[in-house]
Amino acid sequence: MTELAGRHGAVNLGQGFPDSDGPAGMLEVARVAIAEGCNQYPPGRGLSVLRAAIVRDRARIGLDYEAEGEVLVTVGASEAVSAAILGLVEPGREVVVIEPYFDLYAAAIAMAGARRRTARLVPDGDGFTLDVDSLRAAITPATRMIVVNTPHNPTGAVLDRAALLAIAEIACEHDLLVLSDEVYEHLTFDGVEHVSLGTLPGMRERTIVVSSAGKRFSVTGWKVGWACAPAPLLEGILAAKQPLTFASGGPFQLAVAHALDNEQEWTAHWCAKLSDKREFLSNALRAAGFGVRHSAGSYYLCADVAPLGEPDALDFCRAMPERIGVAAVPVRVFADDIAPWQTLVRFTCCKRDATLTEAARRLTRSA
Ligand SMILES: *Cc1c(COP(=O)(O)O)cnc(C)c1O
Repeated sequence: MTELAGRHGAVNLGQGFPDSDGPAGMLEVARVAIAEGCNQYPPGRGLSVLRAAIVRDRARIGLDYEAEGEVLVTVGASEAVSAAILGLVEPGREVVVIEPYFDLYAAAIAMAGARRRTARLVPDGDGFTLDVDSLRAAITPATRMIVVNTPHNPTGAVLDRAALLAIAEIACEHDLLVLSDEVYEHLTFDGVEHVSLGTLPGMRERTIVVSSAGKRFSVTGWKVGWACAPAPLLEGILAAKQPLTFASGGPFQLAVAHALDNEQEWTAHWCAKLSDKREFLSNALRAAGFGVRHSAGSYYLCADVAPLGEPDALDFCRAMPERIGVAAVPVRVFADDIAPWQTLVRFTCCKRDATLTEAARRLTRSA
């Protein structure tokens, strides 16, 4: 879709990366670190200043980790996810993902020689929630891990405490690991609370919490992420990470350490701006005739093209860059069972106001 957007000069609301920079102080720390020679391999587990900052960051939500044995710095959340699945899931075991799901999970499960089973989100008012029965039904004796993502890409759903307690209960009952992808943990709207799975009863010992600086500090190109987990689990993740990349991004690690301690206000402000952007884009899509779904967090919101008389979002998204001059992604590409998602389109709202205004102008013109 990004290529199509380029070909037709479309406003790209497909790929989720901001077109504005992160906090100036953080960018400066990276520049200074490069200038002052912080340019060789960092330790495999990550710079200790960053691991310590990650520990302080987790402590703010009530989770205590040891910087030495329970925190691993990775090449974005992506590597944390891949290494956790490669390192902790034996070939032939099963991993449950909740669809629609971030495409990386399926690839990592395949690389691990494991099998993917799916639970699903279902409509709940004008948003989405977990179908707990579908999760129960997806568990078999071969299940090793459940992958959870909240706030959620692609729907913008934020799982509430009840849904997460249900996941926790199932995980404890069947003695499963849970990989909790929380890259949008600080980006929830309207006062909606993000609950980290690791804080629920019985969960810290079985949860791998994954997060990243990319979405939170608007530096998706830096690829600094991390995994936090009990030491025996972390050793497994490290065993997979070491031959993948060993280490990365020393200057960026220093800058993210600075940001975790000093840029919480910046993130709160970024979140407030994102919330406004979501409102603006929702209104524009509604005015253009789309059936807009509620987004409670993340960089995304979804809109239904069925009210436009369109039977399929994939066809619609292929035509949209030329027809409307805006690019977006059909949600069905994130699902194995496409039927419930057939007419839904994911738009990112993380762009500059001028970018969104131009997208709104084009959408309105098309209506
Ligand atoms: C963007 C994203 C990632 C990848 O994060 P990086 O830090 O860029 O590797 C992982 N999970 C979800 C749900 C995402 O949206």
